[in-house]
Amino acid sequence: MHYLEERHAVLKCAREIYTSGMVTGTWGNVSVRAADKKLMIITPSGMDYETLEPEDMVLLDFNGQVVEGKYQPSIETSLHLGIYQQRSDIDAVIHVHSPYAVAFAVARKNIPVILEETAQVVGHEVEVADYAHCGSQQLADIAVQTLGNDKKALLLANHGLIALGKDIPEALKVSYIVEKTAMISIYATVLGTPHSLSPEDVSFLNQSFKSYGQKK
Ligand code: 13P
Ligand code: ZN
Repeated sequence: MHYLEERHAVLKCAREIYTSGMVTGTWGNVSVRAADKKLMIITPSGMDYETLEPEDMVLLDFNGQVVEGKYQPSIETSLHLGIYQQRSDIDAVIHVHSPYAVAFAVARKNIPVILEETAQVVGHEVEVADYAHCGSQQLADIAVQTLGNDKKALLLANHGLIALGKDIPEALKVSYIVEKTAMISIYATVLGTPHSLSPEDVSFLNQSFKSYGQKK
């Protein structure tokens, strides 16, 4: 079996989005661009996360042709594919239906940058892309266009969240932070008026986070 490391990484992440409650049932999907940049590895469509195995992953080239895999790939394959085609800085894509983020996607309100962590890890408001049916080429096109060249996360109206990263740990971090930001924003609205960070502070925090932690 080829691309064993990537298959395991996608599977581990898929299990985590399930066990963390960011998806229920078989919804959501995860992909990575292979280390050699030749293929993408994505979760199969509609399969139980608890019984998923590395060999169940689907490998596709960047023309959308299945190269290896016995199952249908995720219905959001064209969305993942479109992101990899547009964004050479992105090697991991996670799609979840996490409840607080989806509350914003239903209200069709951007998630504001109210936490330092949001400024550091995401660096922008999380916009809501116009509504289109799940799994449609239209959804993929709208999402890729709205993500542009530098966004890390996007809400899909009445549906879910897309989180991007240079690798799976980063894309997971983006998902968790967006979900936490959405939750705190809702609680802060109950308590009073949430205060967003200024664009200057967001930009400062985002830049300075690049050297946060131990020196490599
Ligand atoms: P798949 O099971 O085909 O990945 O679809 C789940 C989903 O969330 C669609 O938006
Ligand atoms: Zn979905």
